[in-house]
Amino acid sequence: MSRFLNQRLRAFEAYVPGEQPSGGYIKLNTNEAPFPPPPGVSERLTPAEIRRLNLYPDPDGKALTAKLAALFGVGPGNVMLSNGSDEMLSFAFMAFCGSGVGAVFPDVTYGFYRVLAGLYGIPYEEMPLRDDFTVDVSDYLGVGATVVLANPNAPTGLALPVRSIEAILAANPRNVVVVDEAYVDFGAESCAGLVGRYDNLLVVRTYSKSRFMAGARLGFALGSEELIKDLKKIKYSVNPYNINRLTLAAGEAAADDNAYYEENWRRLEAGRRSASERLERMGFVMTDSKANFLFTRHPDIAGRKLYAKLREAGILVRRFDQPRIGDYLRISVGSGEQMDALCLALSKILERSPEK
Ligand SMILES: *Cc1c(COP(=O)(O)O)cnc(C)c1O
Repeated sequence: MSRFLNQRLRAFEAYVPGEQPSGGYIKLNTNEAPFPPPPGVSERLTPAEIRRLNLYPDPDGKALTAKLAALFGVGPGNVMLSNGSDEMLSFAFMAFCGSGVGAVFPDVTYGFYRVLAGLYGIPYEEMPLRDDFTVDVSDYLGVGATVVLANPNAPTGLALPVRSIEAILAANPRNVVVVDEAYVDFGAESCAGLVGRYDNLLVVRTYSKSRFMAGARLGFALGSEELIKDLKKIKYSVNPYNINRLTLAAGEAAADDNAYYEENWRRLEAGRRSASERLERMGFVMTDSKANFLFTRHPDIAGRKLYAKLREAGILVRRFDQPRIGDYLRISVGSGEQMDALCLALSKILERSPEK
């Protein structure tokens, strides 16, 4: 830390993303897809497209916005693009919190929410999930603060039905409810259909997980025209050209091939089911994840140890050194081969574990 750092940020701790090693590991730690983007994406990224990198991109990404609006059955004024959904979350905290408005989110959820609140000096309350990690909807009724919920939640994978989110929207008419749907395509219900009915709903989505393009950095939000205008006010003041031309082109080509995605989402759901069954047979306990990851622990071996043993075996998973979930691992659903390697490594570790 230099002596120049803003006083307010001295004790502040940044978000720590999952490790991105340059190779050598079976990578099941950041919920990337084991599939490439649809074939139309590589066809679209032509030398001619690359030559046009001398020009700024369209700051509104109108062509991609129109495609996403059509895909979700909303108007183009209800859609906004961002550089990954993390950027959209950042814009949302800046736009809808502060000046006396705080934020509420679960105690076990995406760690970035707490970091953003800290970065912007926004007071926040963490609502404890129930013992089984489910959200108690009654905690979020009339809270007088911006509500931020990941649905499905991360890292638990547990999803709320749309009617529960609707109850939260109806009970907080004076506050924005941000629903982070990073994992919704893997088997949960989306709130996108509520956008026309609730002017306080902001649905945040990403191309990183269910559109197999984490490297492109593309996210978007769906919300009332007024909310979208507010978010654009922030974006135009922070980084007007936040999405590069190649990513916009890739995003458009990807939006043209929903059939490819639908098919692969079903494959990932099947992969999740089969991996859960195999782990359960080894004695693992897990949540009913609707995401592209498992959230699991083994009663006979501490999470820290299991994480380290898997790492030694060349398999990277994610563990959060936090109260309540320190014994759990979050394991991305990878390819069939990757899951076979995971199961083999786990069975060897459990066999050898001396304190079993
Ligand atoms: C991965 C993730 C995101 C952010 O992803 P981007 O790559 O920035 O789009 C947002 N929310 C949750 C819950 C996530 O798991």
